[in-house]
Amino acid sequence: MASVFSRIIAGEIPSYKIAEDDRFYAFLDINPLAEGHTLVVPKCEVDYIFDLDDRTLGDMMLFAKKVAAAIRRETGCRKVASIVLGLEVPHAHIHLIPMNEERDVDFSREKLQLTPERFASIAERLREAVEI
Ligand code: AMP
Repeated sequence: MASVFSRIIAGEIPSYKIAEDDRFYAFLDINPLAEGHTLVVPKCEVDYIFDLDDRTLGDMMLFAKKVAAAIRRETGCRKVASIVLGLEVPHAHIHLIPMNEERDVDFSREKLQLTPERFASIAERLREAVEI
């Protein structure tokens, strides 16, 4: 069965898309630690990120770099954390999280509750800012 992220990429499940090219897709995490918390995923479905072939892994990081630049510019955060967990969804992904201090990336913290309108407006801002 296709992963939830493959279904998002295929357009079967809605997402707040930030950027896309032929091999990668970026969209807002639906349970964000911070406004702008984004996931970058490869379109090929591989569970464990270090099982990706070298070229895909390297290019995924370069794609994430462009998305992170837009997140940093738009949120004004000190840095954008890039974190790989992958315990919940078995489709490789990088979390990009605006960060000012270490506790901003503590996954045990309560997630933000954002309205669909807020998600949409954050996504629109980031989509316009990102240069792929
Ligand atoms: P993990 O696999 O532990 O890195 O966690 C998966 C992440 O995917 C979590 O932060 C979820 O909030 C996020 N997530 C799961 N389903 C969706 C979805 N349909 N849209 C956006 N984010 C999602």
